Amino acid sequence: MRALGPTFRPYEWAPSTADLAEAAGLEPVEIVRFDGNVAASPPRSARPGAIAGALARVHTYPHGGYPDLVDAIAGYAGVEPENVVLGAGADDLILLCARAFGGPGDVVAVPPRPTYSLFAVAAALTGAVLGEGHEAAVTFACRPNNPTGSLDPLPEDRPLVVDEAYFEYCGETATPLLEDGVVVIRTFSKAFGLAGARVGYALADAETAAELNARQAPAPISTISAALALAAISDPPDVGLVVEERDRMAEELRALGLEPEPSAANFVFVRIPEPRTVSDALLRRGLVVRTLEEGIRISVLDREDDDLLLAALADVLDRPAAARPVGRRARLVRATAETRIAVRLGIDGSGLVRVSTGAGLYDHLLEQLAFHGGLDLVLEGAGDLETGDHHTAEDAAIALGQALDRALGDRRGIARFGDGVVPMDDALARAAVDLGGRAATEIRLEHDPGLARHVLESFAQSGRLALHVESTGRDDHHVAEAAFKATGRALRAALRVESNEIPSTKGLL
Ligand code: PMP
Repeated sequence: MRALGPTFRPYEWAPSTADLAEAAGLEPVEIVRFDGNVAASPPRSARPGAIAGALARVHTYPHGGYPDLVDAIAGYAGVEPENVVLGAGADDLILLCARAFGGPGDVVAVPPRPTYSLFAVAAALTGAVLGEGHEAAVTFACRPNNPTGSLDPLPEDRPLVVDEAYFEYCGETATPLLEDGVVVIRTFSKAFGLAGARVGYALADAETAAELNARQAPAPISTISAALALAAISDPPDVGLVVEERDRMAEELRALGLEPEPSAANFVFVRIPEPRTVSDALLRRGLVVRTLEEGIRISVLDREDDDLLLAALADVLDRPAAARPVGRRARLVRATAETRIAVRLGIDGSGLVRVSTGAGLYDHLLEQLAFHGGLDLVLEGAGDLETGDHHTAEDAAIALGQALDRALGDRRGIARFGDGVVPMDDALARAAVDLGGRAATEIRLEHDPGLARHVLESFAQSGRLALHVESTGRDDHHVAEAAFKATGRALRAALRVESNEIPSTKGLL
C-alpha cells in the first residue's frame, strides 16, 4: 500500500452526541447541535411508506441503476439525464472527481482556508500535491463556501469542480458552464434534509459524466436511499424560512456586538478570538457549534432553537441578551428507567410537528393531536420498545402533558373550555376539554388499536385537564385517529387567549 505520508490528516468527524453529552455532563437528548449544517428536521417525505417498495425488493440489486432518480435530478437541475452522476453524498463525488482528474504527482488546487477540508484530503488520497490553479490538473471551488458562507468569484481555471452543497439556499449555480469544463457537485444532505441517506450527484457535460460514471462504484447508493431521494425531490423544499431565519440570526449576532460574515448558506460564521473557549462554554449548556481556528460556525435551525443559542452566547460573552417574547412555550426532558423523552412545545404554533419515539401508531396519533391542536411540537426519544409500545407511548403522552402544563403557566386568559367533532371515514369522534387544572377523563372508544385510550388518559393526567371523548366506528385506527384529532380541535379552542383574567370564579386554576 502506498504510504499517505506524515503530513496526511484524514477527514475528521465531529464527536457523537453521546460523547458530547458525556463531556457536558448532560443527557444526549439535552444536546442541540448547531454544528452539522443540516436541516432542523427530516423532510415530510421521509416516511416508512417512501421506502416500503425498496424494502420489499431489498434482496435484489438495482440492475440498470436508478433511472427514475437520475431523470428527476436532471429535471430539477435543468440538465439531461446523461449529464448526471450519482454518488454517496457530495463527499463521494469530491473523491471521485479528485481521482478522475488527478493522480500521483499532479497538482490539485483547493480554495484558500478556511474551506471544506475534504478537498485537500481528496487530493492527498490521489497522491496529488496542493498548488495554484493555473498549474493544476483540477481546481476545486466551494460556493457558497463552507464555513464562511461566502459566494466567492468562480476561478477561471479548468477543469473546475464547483461544490454547490448549499446551492438551494442561494440559487447561484455554475451549471450554465458544464460545456466549459465545469463539474457541479450537489447533495440531498442539506436543503433536502437527507444527510443520513448519503445521496449526492455531480453534473457535467455528457462526455465527462460518462468518464466519471465509468470510474464510479457500480451502485454507489442503496435502493433505500434512492427511494428517499426520489420522494424528496418530488416535493422540493421551501428554504425561504431558513434563509429568513439565517438573516435574523445574523442580525441578532450583530446586536451582540459580533460580526458574522455575510452568508449565502444555512449557517453563519463568526470570527472571534479564542473560539475554543466559547464553544466549550456553549457545550456546557448543551449547545454544540463548529469550532475552527478562526472562529465558530453556527448552523441555522429554527427560531426556537436559535434563540437558545443566542441567549447562551450572550451569557457566555457577558453581553446583554436581546429581549425575547416570553410566549407560551416549554422544553423538558423526561427520563425514567424505561424511556427518555425530550419535548419542545409551543402553544401558539405554526404547524411544525414532529413526534419520533419509534412507537409508530402512537407517534402518528400524537402528531395528529398536536397538529389539530395548533401546537408546535418536537417530541423525540426512545424507550424499551422490545417490551412493546406501552412504556414509550405512555411516557411520550405524559411528557407532552407536562410540557403543556408548564407552557400554560397560571393559565391566565385562556378560554379554558373547548370542544371538537371530527369524522374520519366510518368513525365519528366528539371531544370536550376543560383546562381547569384538575385531571379527569371519560374516554369511550368503540374500538381501540391497543393503547389509544391509555395515551389520552396519560396526557390528560399530566396536563391537568378534564378530557371527555367518545368515538365510534368500525375501524380501530379510524376510531382512534378521529379521537385524537377531536381532542386536538377541542384543545385548540380551550387554549385560545380570550382575556387577561384567570378563567375561574375562584380566581385560581
Ligand atoms: N461539501 C460541502 C461544502 C460540505 O459542507 C459538505 C458537508 N459538510 C459536503 C460537501 C458533504 O456533503 P454530503 O453529505 O453530501 O457528503
